[in-house]
Amino acid sequence: MNPSTHFARDYAEARGKFRDAARDAGARLFTYAHDDAKGPGGEALSTDLAWLGPSEASRLLVTISATHGAEGFCGSGVQTGSLRTGLTLPPDTALVAIHAINPYGFAWIRRVTEENVDLNRNFVAHDGALPRNEGYDELAEALCPAEWSEAAQRRTRAILADYGKRHGAALLQRAITGGQYTHADGIFYGGAAATWSRRTALAIAREHLARARKLAVIDYHTGLGPYGHGEKIIIHPPASAGFARARDWYGDNITSTSLGTSKSADVVGDLLSGVEAALPGAEFTGMALEYGVLPVDETIDAVRADNWLHHHGALDSQQGRDIKARMRATFYGDVDEWKQLIFEQALDAQRRALSGLAG
Ligand SMILES: [Zn+2]
Repeated sequence: MNPSTHFARDYAEARGKFRDAARDAGARLFTYAHDDAKGPGGEALSTDLAWLGPSEASRLLVTISATHGAEGFCGSGVQTGSLRTGLTLPPDTALVAIHAINPYGFAWIRRVTEENVDLNRNFVAHDGALPRNEGYDELAEALCPAEWSEAAQRRTRAILADYGKRHGAALLQRAITGGQYTHADGIFYGGAAATWSRRTALAIAREHLARARKLAVIDYHTGLGPYGHGEKIIIHPPASAGFARARDWYGDNITSTSLGTSKSADVVGDLLSGVEAALPGAEFTGMALEYGVLPVDETIDAVRADNWLHHHGALDSQQGRDIKARMRATFYGDVDEWKQLIFEQALDAQRRALSGLAG
């Protein structure tokens, strides 16, 4: 079957395809309805969970889509496809697919949640000392100007380029994407409290994952790295048993944000670490599988434009529609070739995770 058939045009279609595939595979379905937010067409939003395999399984392969909402086109297609193509589950093992953990961002084609929060920066203790990001503070106005005219874009890009010249590309990327807790209307904002999506992820951990002894967790992302290439970003500290296990399972081409070998900046408050912390005692092997679509400069520009649109612009305008189309194209390679590439790598990683869990 052509893997493109598993991918969807929008959130509602993605949810339908996922639930149909789960039912056809004989999985049990659970729904976490979002009562406080709706999609752009008024559609209901939820995180859905499919459990395939024995209900008492002590080994779980857990997949997660749409942590960064707009990136959900990719992860949802992979989840639906792996339910359709029939992974062979070893004994005492279940597949747990968590669909659209940030359904608002998926439906509205935003990276962030309805609280304008980057869910992968939100798993911090908000009543403690929050990480500082002086680089972001310095660039805040240039990153998120109140105007998004051609002139404003030229002016602010020059400010960012100048920062890059003075501090280097890595520090520029860290300033922009490393996460910040000072500008609630900005980008890569970690929030002032736990978001609905964080609370839902932790409820799922409590209600579905807490009995497992061994978990392999794969969180699907897009927007960094070469076109169609899946970077295996390991969340565990480089000297830890989790990192060594991930290398055994996934191979030597794994990367680490804390080692600086990843295309991603080193971040705190990510979802995988947050879920791991909620499951003490379990053997947890977490990986973000990050697929490239467009060059990073264009990706950041698309995120800046989207942030401007939701704070200052009009969604129902030509400029609004253009910005949304660009967001979609930035986080989703909506062509057969890209889907084929990402799906093959996703299935390979899932098979490796399953044999790792069995070992
Ligand atoms: Zn992402």
